[in-house]
Amino acid sequence: MEKLISLCKRRGFIFPGSEIYGGLANSWDYGPLGIELKMNVKAAWWMRFVRQRKDVVGVDTALIMNPKVWEASGHLANFTDPLVECKKCHERYRADQLPVNTTKCPNCASELTPPRQFNMMLKTFLGPAEDSAHVAYFRPETAQGMFVNFALAAGTSRKRLPFGIAQMGKAFRNEITPGNFIFRTREFEQMEIEYFIKPPKTDAEWTAHFETWLLEMKQWCAHLGIAENKLHFAEIPDGERAHYSKRTVDIEYEYPFGRKELYGLAYRTDFDLKNHMEKSGEDLRYNDPETGEKYLPHVIEPTWGVDRSVLVAMLEAYHEEKVADLRGLDADLRGKESSEEEMRVVMKFPKWLAPYKVAVLPLSKKEELSGVASEVYDTLRAQFVTDYDETQSIGKRYRRQDEIGTPYCVTVDFDTLNDKAVTVRDRDTMKQERIAIAELKSYLAEKLTT
Ligand code: ATP
Repeated sequence: MEKLISLCKRRGFIFPGSEIYGGLANSWDYGPLGIELKMNVKAAWWMRFVRQRKDVVGVDTALIMNPKVWEASGHLANFTDPLVECKKCHERYRADQLPVNTTKCPNCASELTPPRQFNMMLKTFLGPAEDSAHVAYFRPETAQGMFVNFALAAGTSRKRLPFGIAQMGKAFRNEITPGNFIFRTREFEQMEIEYFIKPPKTDAEWTAHFETWLLEMKQWCAHLGIAENKLHFAEIPDGERAHYSKRTVDIEYEYPFGRKELYGLAYRTDFDLKNHMEKSGEDLRYNDPETGEKYLPHVIEPTWGVDRSVLVAMLEAYHEEKVADLRGLDADLRGKESSEEEMRVVMKFPKWLAPYKVAVLPLSKKEELSGVASEVYDTLRAQFVTDYDETQSIGKRYRRQDEIGTPYCVTVDFDTLNDKAVTVRDRDTMKQERIAIAELKSYLAEKLTT
Protein backbone atom coordinates (compact mmCIF):
# COMPACT_ATOMS: atom_id res chain seq x y z
CA MET A 1 0.00 0.00 0.00
CA GLU A 2 2.79 2.42 0.87
CA LYS A 3 4.42 1.91 -2.51
CA LEU A 4 1.12 2.49 -4.25
CA ILE A 5 0.25 5.60 -2.23
CA SER A 6 3.66 7.06 -2.96
CA LEU A 7 3.37 6.26 -6.68
CA CYS A 8 -0.08 7.87 -6.71
CA LYS A 9 1.29 11.09 -5.30
CA ARG A 10 4.53 11.13 -7.30
CA ARG A 11 2.85 10.49 -10.62
CA GLY A 12 -0.36 12.46 -10.17
CA PHE A 13 -3.03 9.85 -9.52
CA ILE A 14 -4.17 10.75 -6.01
CA PHE A 15 -2.99 13.47 -3.59
CA PRO A 16 -3.64 13.90 0.14
CA GLY A 17 -6.60 16.33 0.47
CA SER A 18 -5.95 19.98 1.45
CA GLU A 19 -2.24 19.20 1.69
CA ILE A 20 -0.95 22.79 1.77
CA TYR A 21 -2.88 23.27 5.04
CA GLY A 22 -1.48 20.17 6.63
CA GLY A 23 -4.15 17.97 5.07
CA LEU A 24 -7.55 16.80 6.24
CA ALA A 25 -7.42 13.30 7.69
CA ASN A 26 -8.66 10.64 5.27
CA SER A 27 -9.55 12.97 2.46
CA TRP A 28 -7.98 12.50 -0.95
CA ASP A 29 -7.97 14.41 -4.22
CA TYR A 30 -7.74 12.83 -7.64
CA GLY A 31 -4.94 14.33 -9.74
CA PRO A 32 -4.60 14.59 -13.53
CA LEU A 33 -4.07 10.84 -14.02
CA GLY A 34 -6.42 9.73 -11.25
CA ILE A 35 -9.36 11.57 -12.76
CA GLU A 36 -8.71 9.92 -16.15
CA LEU A 37 -8.64 6.52 -14.47
CA LYS A 38 -11.78 7.20 -12.46
CA MET A 39 -13.62 8.57 -15.49
CA ASN A 40 -12.68 5.47 -17.46
CA VAL A 41 -14.20 3.28 -14.73
CA LYS A 42 -17.40 5.31 -14.61
CA ALA A 43 -17.76 5.60 -18.39
CA ALA A 44 -17.26 1.85 -18.86
CA TRP A 45 -19.81 1.11 -16.15
CA TRP A 46 -22.39 3.49 -17.64
CA MET A 47 -21.84 2.07 -21.11
CA ARG A 48 -22.12 -1.52 -19.94
CA PHE A 49 -24.99 -1.24 -17.49
CA VAL A 50 -27.07 1.63 -18.88
CA ARG A 51 -26.49 2.48 -22.53
CA GLN A 52 -25.94 -1.03 -23.84
CA ARG A 53 -28.91 -2.50 -21.99
CA LYS A 54 -32.51 -2.33 -23.04
CA ASP A 55 -33.77 -2.60 -19.49
CA VAL A 56 -31.86 0.09 -17.55
CA VAL A 57 -32.24 3.89 -17.57
CA GLY A 58 -30.19 6.44 -15.68
CA VAL A 59 -30.89 9.34 -13.33
CA ASP A 60 -28.76 11.93 -11.57
CA THR A 61 -30.48 13.11 -8.41
CA ALA A 62 -29.80 15.69 -5.70
CA LEU A 63 -27.19 15.01 -3.02
CA ILE A 64 -29.39 16.63 -0.40
CA MET A 65 -32.96 15.38 -0.32
CA ASN A 66 -36.01 16.14 1.79
CA PRO A 67 -35.17 14.76 5.28
CA LYS A 68 -38.43 12.80 5.17
CA VAL A 69 -36.73 10.53 2.64
CA TRP A 70 -34.33 9.36 5.35
CA GLU A 71 -37.10 8.87 7.82
CA ALA A 72 -39.01 6.68 5.37
CA SER A 73 -35.93 4.75 4.24
CA GLY A 74 -35.05 3.93 7.84
CA HIS A 75 -31.67 5.64 7.70
CA LEU A 76 -32.48 8.11 10.48
CA ALA A 77 -33.28 5.28 12.86
CA ASN A 78 -31.05 2.48 11.60
CA PHE A 79 -28.07 3.75 9.66
CA THR A 80 -25.81 3.45 12.65
CA ASP A 81 -22.56 1.83 13.68
CA PRO A 82 -21.82 0.84 17.28
CA LEU A 83 -19.30 3.35 18.65
CA VAL A 84 -17.02 2.69 21.63
CA GLU A 85 -14.53 5.13 23.04
CA CYS A 86 -11.50 4.68 25.29
CA LYS A 87 -12.07 6.42 28.60
CA LYS A 88 -8.41 7.37 28.84
CA CYS A 89 -6.91 8.08 25.40
CA HIS A 90 -10.32 8.83 23.79
CA GLU A 91 -9.51 6.75 20.72
CA ARG A 92 -12.77 5.70 19.01
CA TYR A 93 -13.59 2.33 17.47
CA ARG A 94 -16.43 0.52 15.77
CA ALA A 95 -17.40 -2.16 18.29
CA ASP A 96 -18.22 -4.58 15.45
CA GLN A 97 -14.66 -4.29 14.15
CA LEU A 98 -13.05 -5.27 17.47
CA PRO A 99 -12.75 -8.89 18.64
CA VAL A 100 -15.98 -10.09 20.31
CA ASN A 101 -16.40 -9.01 23.98
CA THR A 102 -13.43 -6.63 23.91
CA THR A 103 -13.62 -4.21 26.82
CA LYS A 104 -10.07 -2.83 26.70
CA CYS A 105 -8.69 -0.20 24.34
CA PRO A 106 -6.41 -1.76 21.67
CA ASN A 107 -4.28 1.38 21.87
CA CYS A 108 -3.66 1.81 25.64
CA ALA A 109 -5.49 -1.14 27.28
CA SER A 110 -7.72 1.17 29.35
CA GLU A 111 -11.45 0.63 29.70
CA LEU A 112 -13.79 1.23 26.79
CA THR A 113 -17.23 2.85 27.08
CA PRO A 114 -20.25 0.63 26.39
CA PRO A 115 -21.24 0.80 22.69
CA ARG A 116 -23.68 3.47 21.63
CA GLN A 117 -25.37 3.65 18.25
CA PHE A 118 -23.84 6.42 16.18
CA ASN A 119 -25.76 7.67 13.14
CA MET A 120 -23.48 7.96 10.15
CA MET A 121 -25.40 10.49 8.12
CA LEU A 122 -23.56 13.75 7.57
CA LYS A 123 -25.69 16.67 8.72
CA THR A 124 -25.99 20.20 7.50
CA PHE A 125 -28.47 23.10 7.60
CA LEU A 126 -30.32 24.53 4.66
CA GLY A 127 -30.74 28.30 4.75
CA PRO A 128 -29.43 30.75 7.32
CA ALA A 129 -31.18 29.36 10.42
CA GLU A 130 -29.18 26.64 12.14
CA ASP A 131 -32.05 24.99 14.00
CA SER A 132 -33.69 21.59 13.92
CA ALA A 133 -36.33 22.72 11.43
CA HIS A 134 -33.57 23.30 8.89
CA VAL A 135 -31.49 20.17 9.36
CA ALA A 136 -30.70 18.24 6.20
CA TYR A 137 -28.49 15.27 5.38
CA PHE A 138 -26.01 14.53 2.65
CA ARG A 139 -27.18 11.27 1.08
CA PRO A 140 -25.43 8.18 2.52
CA GLU A 141 -26.28 6.19 -0.63
CA THR A 142 -27.45 7.10 -4.12
CA ALA A 143 -30.24 4.50 -3.98
CA GLN A 144 -32.99 6.69 -2.52
CA GLY A 145 -32.79 8.97 -5.57
CA MET A 146 -33.99 6.03 -7.66
CA PHE A 147 -36.78 5.09 -5.27
CA VAL A 148 -38.30 8.55 -4.92
CA ASN A 149 -38.20 8.99 -8.69
CA PHE A 150 -39.43 5.49 -9.44
CA ALA A 151 -42.88 6.45 -10.68
CA LEU A 152 -41.60 9.34 -12.83
CA ALA A 153 -38.68 7.41 -14.30
CA ALA A 154 -40.84 4.36 -15.01
CA GLY A 155 -43.62 6.47 -16.55
CA THR A 156 -41.50 8.74 -18.72
CA SER A 157 -39.18 5.99 -19.99
CA ARG A 158 -42.15 3.64 -20.63
CA LYS A 159 -40.12 0.70 -19.36
CA ARG A 160 -41.84 -2.51 -18.35
CA LEU A 161 -40.82 -4.75 -15.50
CA PRO A 162 -38.26 -6.03 -14.97
CA PHE A 163 -36.18 -2.89 -15.47
CA GLY A 164 -33.55 -0.93 -13.59
CA ILE A 165 -32.73 2.66 -12.69
CA ALA A 166 -29.04 3.46 -12.39
CA GLN A 167 -27.12 6.31 -10.87
CA MET A 168 -23.54 7.19 -10.09
CA GLY A 169 -22.45 9.95 -7.79
CA LYS A 170 -21.20 11.03 -4.42
CA ALA A 171 -22.36 9.64 -1.10
CA PHE A 172 -21.34 10.75 2.38
CA ARG A 173 -20.93 8.81 5.61
CA ASN A 174 -19.58 10.07 8.87
CA GLU A 175 -17.46 6.94 9.27
CA ILE A 176 -16.05 6.27 12.73
CA THR A 177 -12.91 4.65 11.40
CA PRO A 178 -12.08 5.88 7.91
CA GLY A 179 -8.74 4.80 6.53
CA ASN A 180 -6.67 2.58 4.28
CA PHE A 181 -6.19 5.26 1.64
CA ILE A 182 -9.31 5.59 -0.54
CA PHE A 183 -10.84 2.35 0.79
CA ARG A 184 -12.95 4.08 3.43
CA THR A 185 -13.49 7.82 3.32
CA ARG A 186 -16.31 10.07 4.48
CA GLU A 187 -17.03 11.24 0.97
CA PHE A 188 -16.96 8.72 -1.87
CA GLU A 189 -18.67 7.75 -5.09
CA GLN A 190 -21.05 4.92 -5.78
CA MET A 191 -22.51 3.33 -8.89
CA GLU A 192 -25.83 1.69 -8.12
CA ILE A 193 -28.72 0.03 -9.90
CA GLU A 194 -32.15 -0.53 -8.43
CA TYR A 195 -33.51 -3.39 -10.52
CA PHE A 196 -37.29 -3.59 -10.18
CA ILE A 197 -39.01 -6.95 -10.56
CA LYS A 198 -42.57 -8.24 -10.22
CA PRO A 199 -43.40 -9.18 -6.62
CA PRO A 200 -42.07 -12.73 -6.54
CA LYS A 201 -44.49 -15.54 -5.70
CA THR A 202 -41.66 -17.92 -4.92
CA ASP A 203 -38.05 -17.56 -3.70
CA ALA A 204 -36.90 -19.01 -7.00
CA GLU A 205 -38.26 -15.97 -8.85
CA TRP A 206 -36.16 -13.35 -7.10
CA THR A 207 -33.20 -15.70 -6.71
CA ALA A 208 -32.96 -15.99 -10.50
CA HIS A 209 -32.57 -12.19 -10.83
CA PHE A 210 -30.16 -12.13 -7.91
CA GLU A 211 -27.92 -14.78 -9.47
CA THR A 212 -27.99 -13.01 -12.84
CA TRP A 213 -26.74 -9.81 -11.22
CA LEU A 214 -24.10 -11.69 -9.28
CA LEU A 215 -22.78 -13.02 -12.57
CA GLU A 216 -22.84 -9.52 -14.11
CA MET A 217 -20.78 -8.27 -11.17
CA LYS A 218 -18.27 -11.11 -11.53
CA GLN A 219 -17.86 -10.31 -15.22
CA TRP A 220 -17.33 -6.64 -14.41
CA CYS A 221 -14.58 -7.62 -11.94
CA ALA A 222 -12.82 -9.59 -14.68
CA HIS A 223 -13.16 -6.63 -17.06
CA LEU A 224 -11.49 -4.42 -14.45
CA GLY A 225 -8.55 -6.82 -14.42
CA ILE A 226 -9.16 -8.43 -11.03
CA ALA A 227 -7.70 -11.91 -10.58
CA GLU A 228 -10.49 -14.35 -9.73
CA ASN A 229 -8.59 -15.88 -6.81
CA LYS A 230 -8.49 -12.51 -5.02
CA LEU A 231 -12.30 -12.35 -4.87
CA HIS A 232 -14.64 -13.89 -2.32
CA PHE A 233 -18.40 -14.02 -2.27
CA ALA A 234 -19.63 -13.75 1.28
CA GLU A 235 -23.24 -14.61 2.08
CA ILE A 236 -24.24 -12.24 4.90
CA PRO A 237 -26.13 -14.14 7.62
CA ASP A 238 -29.41 -13.12 9.29
CA GLY A 239 -28.92 -10.42 11.86
CA GLU A 240 -25.89 -8.90 10.12
CA ARG A 241 -27.57 -7.54 7.03
CA ALA A 242 -28.63 -3.92 6.50
CA HIS A 243 -32.10 -3.15 7.83
CA TYR A 244 -33.73 -3.38 4.40
CA SER A 245 -32.17 -6.54 3.06
CA LYS A 246 -33.51 -10.09 2.81
CA ARG A 247 -30.35 -11.43 1.19
CA THR A 248 -26.93 -9.85 0.77
CA VAL A 249 -23.77 -11.10 -0.88
CA ASP A 250 -20.67 -9.03 -0.24
CA ILE A 251 -18.07 -9.24 -2.98
CA GLU A 252 -14.83 -9.11 -1.05
CA TYR A 253 -11.30 -8.54 -2.25
CA GLU A 254 -8.00 -9.49 -0.65
CA TYR A 255 -6.54 -6.03 -0.04
CA PRO A 256 -3.01 -5.75 1.39
CA PHE A 257 -4.75 -4.80 4.67
CA GLY A 258 -7.07 -7.80 4.69
CA ARG A 259 -10.14 -9.28 3.08
CA LYS A 260 -12.83 -6.64 2.90
CA GLU A 261 -15.83 -5.50 0.90
CA LEU A 262 -15.43 -4.28 -2.63
CA TYR A 263 -19.04 -4.40 -3.90
CA GLY A 264 -22.40 -5.62 -2.62
CA LEU A 265 -25.56 -7.20 -3.93
CA ALA A 266 -28.78 -7.02 -1.93
CA TYR A 267 -32.41 -8.05 -2.25
CA ARG A 268 -34.19 -5.02 -0.80
CA THR A 269 -37.69 -6.48 -1.30
CA ASP A 270 -40.34 -3.74 -1.59
CA PHE A 271 -39.06 -2.18 1.65
CA ASP A 272 -38.17 1.22 0.20
CA LEU A 273 -41.09 1.76 -2.17
CA LYS A 274 -43.55 0.60 0.48
CA ASN A 275 -42.21 3.02 3.06
CA HIS A 276 -42.08 5.92 0.62
CA MET A 277 -45.63 5.22 -0.46
CA GLU A 278 -46.80 5.15 3.16
CA LYS A 279 -44.90 8.25 4.29
CA SER A 280 -45.48 10.39 1.19
CA GLY A 281 -49.07 9.35 0.59
CA GLU A 282 -48.27 9.05 -3.13
CA ASP A 283 -49.30 5.99 -5.06
CA LEU A 284 -46.01 4.48 -6.21
CA ARG A 285 -47.50 1.27 -7.53
CA TYR A 286 -46.64 0.01 -10.96
CA ASN A 287 -49.50 -0.37 -13.39
CA ASP A 288 -49.01 -3.71 -15.11
CA PRO A 289 -50.07 -3.19 -18.73
CA GLU A 290 -50.40 -6.93 -19.27
CA THR A 291 -52.67 -7.82 -16.37
CA GLY A 292 -54.11 -4.45 -15.43
CA GLU A 293 -52.96 -5.06 -11.84
CA LYS A 294 -51.30 -2.46 -9.65
CA TYR A 295 -48.52 -3.50 -7.33
CA LEU A 296 -45.24 -2.45 -5.74
CA PRO A 297 -42.24 -3.99 -7.47
CA HIS A 298 -39.47 -5.67 -5.48
CA VAL A 299 -35.85 -4.66 -5.90
CA ILE A 300 -32.50 -6.32 -6.50
CA GLU A 301 -29.68 -3.85 -5.86
CA PRO A 302 -26.15 -4.32 -7.16
CA THR A 303 -23.85 -1.61 -5.80
CA TRP A 304 -20.30 -0.68 -6.74
CA GLY A 305 -17.93 1.70 -4.99
CA VAL A 306 -16.11 3.88 -7.54
CA ASP A 307 -13.11 4.63 -5.32
CA ARG A 308 -12.74 1.00 -4.27
CA SER A 309 -12.85 0.07 -7.97
CA VAL A 310 -10.00 2.50 -8.63
CA LEU A 311 -8.04 1.19 -5.65
CA VAL A 312 -8.41 -2.44 -6.65
CA ALA A 313 -7.65 -1.73 -10.31
CA MET A 314 -4.41 -0.07 -9.20
CA LEU A 315 -3.48 -2.85 -6.78
CA GLU A 316 -4.04 -5.43 -9.51
CA ALA A 317 -2.12 -3.42 -12.09
CA TYR A 318 0.95 -2.83 -9.91
CA HIS A 319 3.93 -4.96 -10.97
CA GLU A 320 7.63 -4.86 -10.23
CA GLU A 321 9.85 -6.53 -12.82
CA LYS A 322 13.54 -7.03 -13.40
CA VAL A 323 14.65 -5.57 -16.72
CA ALA A 324 17.79 -4.27 -18.43
CA ASP A 325 18.86 -1.05 -16.71
CA LEU A 326 18.34 2.52 -17.87
CA ARG A 327 21.70 2.78 -19.55
CA GLY A 328 21.00 -0.54 -21.20
CA LEU A 329 17.74 0.78 -22.51
CA ASP A 330 19.29 3.84 -24.03
CA ALA A 331 21.98 1.63 -25.51
CA ASP A 332 19.35 -0.74 -26.94
CA LEU A 333 17.90 2.10 -28.87
CA ARG A 334 21.28 2.70 -30.42
CA GLY A 335 21.63 -1.00 -31.19
CA LYS A 336 24.10 -1.86 -28.43
CA GLU A 337 23.73 -4.41 -25.67
CA SER A 338 23.74 -4.41 -21.92
CA SER A 339 23.37 -7.19 -19.40
CA GLU A 340 22.81 -5.12 -16.28
CA GLU A 341 19.46 -5.42 -14.55
CA GLU A 342 17.25 -3.10 -12.60
CA MET A 343 13.70 -3.04 -11.28
CA ARG A 344 10.92 -1.44 -13.28
CA VAL A 345 7.53 -0.62 -11.83
CA VAL A 346 4.78 -1.06 -14.37
CA MET A 347 1.04 -0.52 -14.02
CA LYS A 348 -0.45 -3.23 -16.22
CA PHE A 349 -3.91 -1.72 -16.50
CA PRO A 350 -6.25 -3.27 -19.02
CA LYS A 351 -5.76 -0.97 -22.02
CA TRP A 352 -9.28 0.51 -21.84
CA LEU A 353 -8.55 1.61 -18.27
CA ALA A 354 -5.12 3.21 -18.73
CA PRO A 355 -5.20 7.00 -18.16
CA TYR A 356 -3.01 7.70 -21.19
CA LYS A 357 -3.23 5.34 -24.15
CA VAL A 358 -0.17 6.68 -25.94
CA ALA A 359 2.88 8.82 -25.19
CA VAL A 360 4.83 10.67 -27.87
CA LEU A 361 8.53 10.87 -27.01
CA PRO A 362 10.95 12.68 -29.32
CA LEU A 363 14.40 11.16 -28.83
CA SER A 364 15.93 14.61 -28.37
CA LYS A 365 14.69 18.13 -27.79
CA LYS A 366 16.28 19.29 -31.04
CA GLU A 367 13.99 21.36 -33.21
CA GLU A 368 14.16 19.03 -36.22
CA LEU A 369 12.54 16.32 -34.08
CA SER A 370 10.06 18.37 -32.08
CA GLY A 371 8.40 19.61 -35.27
CA VAL A 372 7.53 16.08 -36.45
CA ALA A 373 6.85 14.89 -32.91
CA SER A 374 4.32 17.60 -32.21
CA GLU A 375 2.58 16.87 -35.51
CA VAL A 376 2.31 13.23 -34.47
CA TYR A 377 1.08 14.37 -31.04
CA ASP A 378 -1.62 16.58 -32.60
CA THR A 379 -2.91 13.77 -34.82
CA LEU A 380 -2.98 11.17 -32.05
CA ARG A 381 -4.50 13.48 -29.44
CA ALA A 382 -7.63 13.87 -31.52
CA GLN A 383 -8.35 10.17 -31.13
CA PHE A 384 -6.52 8.86 -28.04
CA VAL A 385 -5.71 10.35 -24.65
CA THR A 386 -2.07 11.12 -25.40
CA ASP A 387 0.88 12.38 -23.38
CA TYR A 388 3.90 14.26 -24.74
CA ASP A 389 7.26 14.24 -22.99
CA GLU A 390 10.61 15.47 -24.24
CA THR A 391 12.62 15.94 -21.06
CA GLN A 392 15.23 13.50 -19.63
CA SER A 393 16.72 10.43 -21.24
CA ILE A 394 14.45 8.17 -23.27
CA GLY A 395 15.01 5.35 -20.78
CA LYS A 396 13.72 7.45 -17.89
CA ARG A 397 10.74 8.53 -19.95
CA TYR A 398 9.88 4.89 -20.72
CA ARG A 399 10.05 4.13 -17.00
CA ARG A 400 7.71 7.01 -16.24
CA GLN A 401 5.19 5.81 -18.82
CA ASP A 402 5.48 2.27 -17.42
CA GLU A 403 4.71 3.61 -13.95
CA ILE A 404 1.57 5.35 -15.13
CA GLY A 405 0.54 2.38 -17.25
CA THR A 406 0.64 3.89 -20.76
CA PRO A 407 0.20 0.93 -23.15
CA TYR A 408 2.18 2.45 -26.08
CA CYS A 409 5.13 4.82 -26.41
CA VAL A 410 5.84 6.37 -29.78
CA THR A 411 9.45 7.45 -30.24
CA VAL A 412 10.38 9.97 -32.89
CA ASP A 413 14.09 9.70 -33.77
CA PHE A 414 16.47 11.04 -36.40
CA ASP A 415 15.62 8.20 -38.82
CA THR A 416 12.03 9.43 -38.72
CA LEU A 417 13.10 12.44 -40.77
CA ASN A 418 14.07 10.11 -43.63
CA ASP A 419 11.84 7.07 -43.36
CA LYS A 420 8.68 8.85 -42.08
CA ALA A 421 8.29 6.11 -39.49
CA VAL A 422 8.38 5.91 -35.68
CA THR A 423 9.19 3.28 -33.09
CA VAL A 424 6.24 1.96 -31.11
CA ARG A 425 7.08 0.32 -27.79
CA ASP A 426 4.70 -2.05 -26.04
CA ARG A 427 4.38 -1.48 -22.26
CA ASP A 428 4.07 -5.15 -21.31
CA THR A 429 6.51 -6.87 -23.67
CA MET A 430 8.79 -3.84 -24.13
CA LYS A 431 9.11 -4.96 -27.76
CA GLN A 432 9.56 -2.23 -30.34
CA GLU A 433 8.17 -2.02 -33.83
CA ARG A 434 8.84 0.42 -36.65
CA ILE A 435 5.56 1.84 -37.97
CA ALA A 436 4.98 4.34 -40.79
CA ILE A 437 3.50 7.60 -39.46
CA ALA A 438 0.76 7.34 -42.07
CA GLU A 439 -0.37 4.06 -40.52
CA LEU A 440 0.17 4.94 -36.87
CA LYS A 441 -3.42 5.87 -36.03
CA SER A 442 -4.98 2.73 -37.42
CA TYR A 443 -2.19 0.59 -35.96
CA LEU A 444 -2.82 2.00 -32.46
CA ALA A 445 -6.58 1.89 -32.81
CA GLU A 446 -6.39 -1.81 -33.54
CA LYS A 447 -3.90 -2.55 -30.79
CA LEU A 448 -5.93 -0.61 -28.23
CA THR A 449 -9.12 -2.55 -28.85
CA THR A 450 -7.54 -5.98 -28.42
P1 ATP B 1 -18.50 -1.44 4.65
O1 ATP B 1 -18.99 -2.72 5.24
O2 ATP B 1 -17.13 -1.53 4.03
O3 ATP B 1 -18.68 -0.24 5.54
P2 ATP B 1 -21.07 -1.12 3.50
O4 ATP B 1 -21.57 -2.53 3.54
O5 ATP B 1 -21.51 -0.15 4.49
O6 ATP B 1 -19.46 -1.13 3.42
P3 ATP B 1 -22.69 -0.41 1.29
O7 ATP B 1 -23.64 0.34 2.12
O8 ATP B 1 -23.08 -1.73 0.74
O9 ATP B 1 -21.29 -0.54 2.06
O10 ATP B 1 -22.18 0.57 0.13
C1 ATP B 1 -22.03 0.15 -1.19
C2 ATP B 1 -20.60 0.30 -1.70
O11 ATP B 1 -20.15 1.63 -1.49
C3 ATP B 1 -19.59 -0.57 -0.97
O12 ATP B 1 -19.57 -1.86 -1.54
C4 ATP B 1 -18.31 0.19 -1.21
O13 ATP B 1 -17.75 -0.14 -2.47
C5 ATP B 1 -18.75 1.62 -1.22
N1 ATP B 1 -18.51 2.27 0.08
C6 ATP B 1 -19.27 2.20 1.19
N2 ATP B 1 -18.77 2.95 2.19
C7 ATP B 1 -17.64 3.52 1.70
C8 ATP B 1 -16.68 4.44 2.24
N3 ATP B 1 -16.80 4.92 3.46
N4 ATP B 1 -15.65 4.81 1.45
C9 ATP B 1 -15.52 4.35 0.18
N5 ATP B 1 -16.41 3.50 -0.37
C10 ATP B 1 -17.46 3.09 0.36
